[in-house]
Amino acid sequence: MVGGYAGEILWIDLSTEKIEKTPLEAEFARKFIGGRGLAAKILFDNLPPKINPLSPENLLIFATGVLTGCPAPGANRTVIVTKSPQTGFFLDTYAGGHLGPEIKFAGYDVIVIKGRAKKPIYIQIENDSVLFKDAAHLWGKDCWETETIIKKEAGEDIKVAVIGQAGENLVKYACVSTDYFHQFGRGGAGAVMGSKNLKGVAVRGSKSLHIADPERLKNYLLDKIEWKFTRGPNAELVKDRIKYGTPLTMDFTQAIGILPTRNFQFGQFEEYDKIDGYAFREKIVVADKSCYSCNTPCVKFSVIKEGAYKGLSLEGPEYETNAMLGSNVGNSKLELIVKANEICDRLGLDTISAGNVIGFVMECYEKGILTKKDCDGLELNFGNMDAAFTLMYKIAYREGIGDILAEGVRYAAQKFNKGSEKFAMHVKGMEYPAYEPRGSPAFALLYAIADRGACHRRGWPVIIESKKYKPGTIEGRPQLAKDLYDNRTILHSIGVCDMPYNVAGIDHNDIAQILSAVTGWNITVEELLTVAERVASLIRAFNVREGARRVDDTLAWRTMHEPLPSGPAKGQFISEEMLDSMLDEYYQLRGWDKKTGVPLPETLNKLGLEDVRKELEKHGCF
Ligand code: SF4
Repeated sequence: MVGGYAGEILWIDLSTEKIEKTPLEAEFARKFIGGRGLAAKILFDNLPPKINPLSPENLLIFATGVLTGCPAPGANRTVIVTKSPQTGFFLDTYAGGHLGPEIKFAGYDVIVIKGRAKKPIYIQIENDSVLFKDAAHLWGKDCWETETIIKKEAGEDIKVAVIGQAGENLVKYACVSTDYFHQFGRGGAGAVMGSKNLKGVAVRGSKSLHIADPERLKNYLLDKIEWKFTRGPNAELVKDRIKYGTPLTMDFTQAIGILPTRNFQFGQFEEYDKIDGYAFREKIVVADKSCYSCNTPCVKFSVIKEGAYKGLSLEGPEYETNAMLGSNVGNSKLELIVKANEICDRLGLDTISAGNVIGFVMECYEKGILTKKDCDGLELNFGNMDAAFTLMYKIAYREGIGDILAEGVRYAAQKFNKGSEKFAMHVKGMEYPAYEPRGSPAFALLYAIADRGACHRRGWPVIIESKKYKPGTIEGRPQLAKDLYDNRTILHSIGVCDMPYNVAGIDHNDIAQILSAVTGWNITVEELLTVAERVASLIRAFNVREGARRVDDTLAWRTMHEPLPSGPAKGQFISEEMLDSMLDEYYQLRGWDKKTGVPLPETLNKLGLEDVRKELEKHGCF
């Protein structure tokens, strides 16, 4: 097999307990590279359109990238690809830690799981052996308890992905947890696992990974990449990232007025400095941690040193959690963010969606749309974190109002009505993450066009947009969004964490050099960009086949009609005209039909996706 790849796809049918192994063909691998790209094609080819995401037919795909497990920076990513129960569209959701490399060492690039087990089970994969293990004793346990028990049974060194009670109860934003503190957070992959009666996947591998030209790889890493990390123009940024981790982002978003505050009503939080990266470092961070093969240990190990939660420790919180369970719910107490993080991690709830949903309910409560009685006796004012904690359990167990909130903010707004849909902050049913898009037209466009719903992982325009472009205008944003999106597609397909690459300035040329050394292919920047284009149109085609059109590429009402009331971005919003104009230009850059948002037949042909074009023709999508 080509260097970097394990060379095999493992297919597991939970209904029949049959497994199959098929070779990963080199031509197929090169066309889609790995990770997001490869899994997207497998999903497109094997998932019947319009199936219920929580039915046995849905596929749950764990995919590694070509670099996952290799000695390259941040080469540790696994992506879960499936049809999202939250949006009904394509979902890719990522985690670091150590699971991905272990899948590779067990001999697989991709694990495809379908069907539904008759009773709760977990899968134990050890190289060529695949066992279906009873999980009756694990059902009802939280993520941390489940991981601990599986490790006791299968050995401490085994790597696992598990769900908590939220996944079991099919909460639409249930996550999958690995290495205790890493989550496949967004879009409800945990609910898909729950619907399959699959409590966990445990993997141990002892196979070696072939690198085509180890000497060339070593020399490039030592000569070029190490310099970028330690002495290049971004070396100070790297140091800051290591020292403060992602919570440092809060100082940027606060400064330019895009820190979501009290359910995205405002873009600045008056007490942000109590919960930003500096406060974290000073008050609770006790150690730096890293994922597999990463020289940018941005993960912070935190311990609460006083008060009611004294002794509570975990890895995190990350910026997104910090903002969504801090400023977005009006909470300025660090220890309460950590506690909220712990509850979500244990229950298996995505902290971003949880913070968004709770912020939404708090606004409903303060505006009188919901009464105390509607909220099961909870006083859900902004900042009431005790009530928020109770709500998290209600959501995970689908109790009382939690049963509505477990469906996400789009559904909850339809239920509560009374104008609440105007401030239900989502795209395609996925809750906004921690960037207020009214102050960032590039983020607004990225949210609108992202195939998995409102997403911060398709690009991070915060610094470049504030430095290069005039605030409140849309000029240049479509090209910026496309460039960032394509960059992330490359990173998410090769199987690396995007943070060290973007922080240190590892560019496409570096990636082409590293990939060439690992695979033995002569990979060029042009080829990488073509793969990125191909994958973007392929995923778009998947969503089109599911019924998505231009009308779905939109934003929350508040973003498009309510100017930001204060802060540096005061007065800004994304009008319909602005969004329309950005979409027109973006579709043109992609070769998609401006009226419908469907990839043009000639675009699909040009990208080598003739089979995808035929499939869309068959379903009358053009
Ligand atoms: S940069 Fe942080 S999240 Fe990314 S691989 Fe390194 S330690 Fe993990």
